[in-house]
This record gives sequence, C-alpha cells and structure tokens, in this order.
Amino acid sequence: MHARTGAESSSEIPGILHLDMDAFFASVEVRDDPGLQGLPVVVGGAGTRGVVAAASYPARTRGIRSAMPMATARRLAPDLVIVPPRIARYREASARVMEILGSVVAEVEQISIDEAFLDVRGARRLFGEPQQIAALLRRTIREELDLPSSVGGSVSRAVAKIASARAKPDGQLIVPAAGTADFLAPLPVSVVSGIGPKAVASLERIGVRTIGQIREIPPSALARALGPRAPEIARLAAGSDRTGLGRRVRDKSVGTERTWDEDLTDADQVRRRITVMADDVARQLRRGELVARTVVLKLRSPDGTTITRSATLDQPTASGERLREHVVALWERESHRLHRIRLAGVRATHLEPEASTPYQHELTARSGQWRDLEAAMDRAVDRFGTTSLSRGSTLQRAPEEAPRVGSPASPDQDRP
Ligand SMILES: [Mg+2]
Repeated sequence: MHARTGAESSSEIPGILHLDMDAFFASVEVRDDPGLQGLPVVVGGAGTRGVVAAASYPARTRGIRSAMPMATARRLAPDLVIVPPRIARYREASARVMEILGSVVAEVEQISIDEAFLDVRGARRLFGEPQQIAALLRRTIREELDLPSSVGGSVSRAVAKIASARAKPDGQLIVPAAGTADFLAPLPVSVVSGIGPKAVASLERIGVRTIGQIREIPPSALARALGPRAPEIARLAAGSDRTGLGRRVRDKSVGTERTWDEDLTDADQVRRRITVMADDVARQLRRGELVARTVVLKLRSPDGTTITRSATLDQPTASGERLREHVVALWERESHRLHRIRLAGVRATHLEPEASTPYQHELTARSGQWRDLEAAMDRAVDRFGTTSLSRGSTLQRAPEEAPRVGSPASPDQDRP
C-alpha cells in the first residue's frame, strides 16, 4: 500500500523526525486539572527567586516565556496561575511518550524529558511515509496521554528541530529534501540550535540576519564570524546537511583556562575563580547536550610548576553545582602546594551524550531542581544576556529591578 518511490534515495527521504511535547509541564498540569484550561498557567517556584519553568499557550500570548523571573510573569499577567513543579508526574508522562515512540519506530534518540529524534525511514513499509508516521505518533500520544505534541521532519536533524518549532502548537511540518534551503531561507539565524546571541551578533556585523543570507557570504567571512562551526552552518543553509541520529561526541573534552597578569595569592580568590570556571564548563556541556564523567583542575604557579588533578564523578553530569563541588575539593587538597597562581583551568572529560544516561538519576528530589533551574538559567542567559540573571542572591532582586523583557528572541521555540 505504501509503495516506495523507487527514484528516491534513502538519504532524500525526510525521515528524521523531531517530536517535541507542547508546553510539556504546563500541559500536564492543565490536563490533570481541567479547571486550568484556557488560563495563563506557569509551572515554577512562586517565591521571589522563582523562575518560569514552563508556560501554557494562554500565558505565552501574554508574553510570558520559560526562564523568565516569576515576578516579571506576574506583572505581565496579574491573573497568573502558578503551579509548583511535579517532576515525578512529568517523568511518568515522559516515559509513556518514549514508550509510544519506541513501539512504532526502532530508532529513537531521546534528547530531553519531552523531546526525541526519530529515524522513521525503516518504519515506512509498516506505517507509511514520514507525514503519516508523524500523524500516527501525535494521535497516539493524544489518545493515550491527552497531551499535545508537535513534529518536524527533514533529511537533517537540525532542520527537523527547526521545523517542529515552526509547527507548534499541536502541528507537524515535514520539509522535503528539495525544499530545505527555501524553507530555511527567510528564518532568522537564531533558530539554528547552537547559534547563540554572540554568533547572531557576529553574523549581523557582516550583514547576515536570515539563514538565506548565509549562502551569499564567502566561506572565509563566514569562518571569521562563526569559527569552526562555519562549514556545518553553511551546509545547513544550503540544504545539504544530512546529519541523522546518533549524535557523535566530537570533542573529547570541554574546558576553560585563564592566565592572570597578576598572580592570585589568596586561596579564596582562587576558589571563586575556579567556581566561575566550573559553571562555565557546565554551561558548555549543557549547550552540547553532554554530560561528563571526569572533571580536571589545572593550576600553574609563576615559576611554571603545573599541577593537574582530576576527580571521577559517581554519575556523569552537566551540573555546575556538581562540578563546583569537585573542583573546590581538588583545590582544597592542593592549595598548600601553590601559594601563587598564574594560570587556572577547569576541564570536563569522558563525555557522553546526555540522552545516553537516563535523565532520571539527575531528577532526584534534590538534583531535579538544579537541572531545571540551571537549564532555565541557561535560557535566561541566552535570552536576556549574562547580566540579567545569576545564581542565588541576584535572583532575589526586587521586582522593579527585574530584567526588562523585550521582544522574545524566538517565540516559537518551545520549552517544557
Ligand atoms: Mg517541549
């Protein structure tokens, strides 16, 4: 019945799907309490330090976004309904969603609690073309869980992810191989995962705002603006990216290192510097959807003496809190050896894709909160800039001082 079109080679079938639950945490809450239907609902902490973890679509139409300080959300919607997170409930729904995906498609790569990539090319004989498989998956999730989801499809995982965001809410969008470049051309460069505010700014400096404009830029200029990722982005813009499932871990480590003009002589000062570095490394891991098994601290004194110490973590992690604990412990053990520090570095090694380590072990009562909070903070940093939100004390800002929310970078972008 679903005959293959013989002329089409397998790499030209838009069979890489990205399925993303719509406003996941908020949708679960509304489903469980139908009285919330149609109301601006957010999931998150109600306190002064609260951050929006997820916003329902009625909340989004009022300008509320995930990662926004709760005080800001309250100002935008005085009738805001704030629901405290129920991580166990979301995990339960997530597990069922992944089961449904696995029952139809063999190749599933879960990338977060509410998202997965699928390669459905092998499922065509049984279930039809990608368009039909996407519809089947969304219908089954709706019937069994009463939750909305969206699907994007393409020959490329990066494009599939962009397409699912455009399909939201409760929609699907399969981009045929030949139409990929045209689909991408009018979109702002910021929709590409991995093009953050810095890359957006450097592209803007060379006159590039849309993905289509990337194709008009000489490779050398693109390389200057984007660094090592330039060829990959150029392929994407040209519609010739064919990266499918099975994310490869390209770098064996991520890290940061700094040399100071004036030596650090105070142990507390060193501790503060390496703490910031550990946070930075954790952020790099989360951006790359990676977790690390080992953290390495490197210290050099002005005479060139270098000490490198590592700690193996009981669980692979992308948590800044965890990395900080370990680098500070390493420093406490070594601080008596080095009285002046010229260079310090923090590096995470033995990396794995985040999805290969079940999310669950980080979602314990204690650490579940860091994962959400840190993820929310990453998004806030991306969206509002580094100064608008930082850990702990500055989260307790008075409402008047809360960051002003301009036009959201990409309103289509869905978060749990
Ligand atoms: Mg989602």
